[in-house]
Amino acid sequence: MSEQASFDADLMQQWEMTVDRLAVHAERWHGRREIVGRLADGQIARTNWAALAQRARQVTAVLVAHGIPMGTRIGTLAMNSIRHVETWYGVMGHGAVCHTLNPRLFDDQLIYMINHAEDRWIFADPAFRSQVERLLPHCPTVEKVIYLGEPGEAGVLPATATDYETLIADADPAMARWGHFSERTPAALCYTSGTTGNPKGVQYSHRSQMLHTLISGQRDFLGLSARDTLLSVVPMFHVNAWGLPYIAAAAGSKLVLPGARLDGASVYELLETEGVTFTAAVPTVWQLLFDFLSENKLKLTTLKRVAIGGSACTDALVRGFRDGHGVEVLHAWGMTEMSPIGTISGPLPPSLGDPDESTRMAYNLKQGRVPFGVDLKITSEEGVRQPHDGITPGHIKVSGPAILERYFRDDKSAVDAEGFFDTGDIGTVDPHGYLQITDRSKDLIKSGGEWISSVEIENIASGHPKALMAAVIAMPHPKWRERPMLVVKLRPGQTATAAEFHDFLKGKIANWWMPDEVTFVDEMPLGATGKLDKKVLRARFTTTHP
Ligand code: AMP
Repeated sequence: MSEQASFDADLMQQWEMTVDRLAVHAERWHGRREIVGRLADGQIARTNWAALAQRARQVTAVLVAHGIPMGTRIGTLAMNSIRHVETWYGVMGHGAVCHTLNPRLFDDQLIYMINHAEDRWIFADPAFRSQVERLLPHCPTVEKVIYLGEPGEAGVLPATATDYETLIADADPAMARWGHFSERTPAALCYTSGTTGNPKGVQYSHRSQMLHTLISGQRDFLGLSARDTLLSVVPMFHVNAWGLPYIAAAAGSKLVLPGARLDGASVYELLETEGVTFTAAVPTVWQLLFDFLSENKLKLTTLKRVAIGGSACTDALVRGFRDGHGVEVLHAWGMTEMSPIGTISGPLPPSLGDPDESTRMAYNLKQGRVPFGVDLKITSEEGVRQPHDGITPGHIKVSGPAILERYFRDDKSAVDAEGFFDTGDIGTVDPHGYLQITDRSKDLIKSGGEWISSVEIENIASGHPKALMAAVIAMPHPKWRERPMLVVKLRPGQTATAAEFHDFLKGKIANWWMPDEVTFVDEMPLGATGKLDKKVLRARFTTTHP
């Protein structure tokens, strides 16, 4: 080699960033750290990182024995459990792609996803057996179903199905050869809910998953420690549980998996009995927990930090956790296409000095700042970058090594000339670098050529003492084109008038933002990941209000 060539060469080790390294790291260096899971019957199962890695290798060994090639999509239809985490590391360690399916979706959506992904095997919770059997006749690529339970837990099975324990019983972990492929190999697949048209697949590579682990694991973001106990309430089918089973393995945290029971009482029990210090989920889960805590006058005694994301975190939740229980709230924004972390509002930066209580709250309710590894710009309709003045809204576009470049099985690039992906969200960025989401571009209310933020009105209206949930939707208007309508679900036993809500909003929003109508509903439509489904509300009210 010439002298020049040896300078130019990469002289560092070829250490491919494959996710099996996380399992191996946790096994070797945190092997006795516990992993706890709630079973279908409510009992608690216990294992540790060392045992989990060995059983994940057994899953890989089974895939090897059945001649499943790398790159094959293997579906899972399951809640967060020890067996589900074993399956995910076992599938990815083999170089196959773990396709986490959301059991709360409608059959036709699941059928579309399974067929589009051409899943060959599906690992499913025994509780979902009847759902699986409804899907299978429409999913010709699926050869085998494995029920994630004890022998017999899913009942008597047909020849094409087996139970997990029987499947791996004789598998030799030594047959699994992890980490012999490129870090660019696909590892996982998730579909976005698909607000219009068919769902779209986001295929993550080993490299992107590993970098997301390092990016979101930074101290001011999800950063976990070996001393943390993590309860992953957010399901693995919701963007790989926001990467938490990876971050926990990297940090050597204790991992707690809640199974199917996400009601307030069950979540509370795990938080307290397992000594949970960190947890994460969408706002609706925390609302259920708070209802349970206040009904039973209970306190959270071990929890230190909670990540809330997936939809906007409310004032009431921040106050509930922080003032009621001394828990720090990390308000996170992101999406399936971002693996998912985009921004987090956690500890305030020194540039904010020592802010008073209302400023502190205002910053906690913003979506926060980007970690290293995510770049973000806001642009006008024409693609021109907007100032970071905290006032001018723009289309939020993002770039980074854990952000999608194109959808699965789609030839078109999804990024602009600068390599940024359009999130479909609208927001402002302030001089301290804080992003605030003001809307989804499709939910924006365009009144007389100006934008009204549905999210901002919802945040304020949901702070009304009688309100449990609030939604603002655009109603067609002959003069202004669109005007806001406020839809409220009241707390149990409450009654209220439109005037009470108008009075409450007065002075807190611009006059021309004031909803023309206030309507009360018994139930808010929630989508498959627990988020408010405004499509359903819009369809309902635009037809009832000609
Ligand atoms: P999903 O890919 O299903 O996780 O949905 C991503 C979308 O959820 C984002 O594009 C946002 O519109 C919304 N979202 C996620 N987190 C937040 C948040 N903290 N505040 C407001 N909207 C959010």
